[in-house]
Amino acid sequence: MKVTEHIEKTSGKTLFSFEIVPPQKGSNINDLYANIDPLMEFNPPFIDVTTSREEYVYIEKDGLFDRKITRMRPGTVGICASLQYKYGVDAIPHVLCGGFTKEETEYLLVDCHYLGIDNLVALRGDPMKGEKYFVPAKGGNTYAIDLVKQIKQMNEGQFLHGNVAMKNKPDFCIGVAGYPEKHIEAPSMEADLKRLKEKVEAGADYVVTQMFFDNQRYFKFVEAARKIGITVPIIPGIKPVAVKRHLQILPQVFWLDMPQALITEIENAKDNKAVRQIGIEFGIQQSKELLNYGVPCLHYYSMGKSDNVKAIAEGVF
Ligand code: FAD
Repeated sequence: MKVTEHIEKTSGKTLFSFEIVPPQKGSNINDLYANIDPLMEFNPPFIDVTTSREEYVYIEKDGLFDRKITRMRPGTVGICASLQYKYGVDAIPHVLCGGFTKEETEYLLVDCHYLGIDNLVALRGDPMKGEKYFVPAKGGNTYAIDLVKQIKQMNEGQFLHGNVAMKNKPDFCIGVAGYPEKHIEAPSMEADLKRLKEKVEAGADYVVTQMFFDNQRYFKFVEAARKIGITVPIIPGIKPVAVKRHLQILPQVFWLDMPQALITEIENAKDNKAVRQIGIEFGIQQSKELLNYGVPCLHYYSMGKSDNVKAIAEGVF
């Protein structure tokens, strides 16, 4: 079922959902299940599965280094299929422009359709590790909007090399990313919102936001989006702080501000166990305020460990 249908079906009740990052290659899907199992009691109608950019590895041979490309994690579509069949929920692969030609993207979309995946999140992806700027693959999509357009065309039966007659055409529901504190590369909030509007006009059905810690930023973002005519659901993304180092990493990677009261509490915490508890308590308060605002869904970035998301869900739902 489509995310938009899940939202419509609840008629105003806030849904619970979360995102997982596939574990490093070499692990087993049962480890992932063990992590997800504790969250299933909160009835997530959908689970997002991220996709990681390919990475460079350097192979030494005769004193010289040869640069090769590798992927560190198993494929997102396979994981989504296994989650759908194990839990009977909708699993949503994050599809990236970066690292994929349009043809490779088309094969991936064909797999998604074949496996009964109804939703996709269309993203540009970040620059590769060690690269300063995003460089699209040769023959790949450059911006998320290009990917949205490719998916929409496929929904209409138009493949890259011609139309294909099908009994059941794909009808993917498309999510895109939104940034309550602006995307790092955008020249202004207004410019970024215009780009978001373009993605929606190109066919995106809903927006999921980057994590934020100040709900006012989300409220302002939603108001500004509505003002320029973005009417689709805007799902807030929430990340519980879990370790002291998040004070440096999260602002650096995700381009966000943290409330001073939260910073002070974390700085004064005696160890990371205390920080995890602070993250849970903050997450509960943050979620309750968003719930009262009437958000369609509370979407948690679980990052591989579910105990804190479970504790927050227990305090909220
Ligand atoms: P876009 O919408 O393409 O925007 C990128 C930048 O270009 C923005 O600054 C925008 O303002 C600008 N822009 C857009 N269109 C144009 C245009 N036509 N001309 C000029 N400028 C333009 N990354 C991963 O690698 N894997 C994941 O699984 C993943 N999941 C994510 C989930 C969510 C909910 C979010 C919020 C982010 C996620 N990301 C993920 C990170 C994302 O890939 C990065 O933030 C990336 O830098 C931008 O992706 P985007 O889809 O927002 O890009």
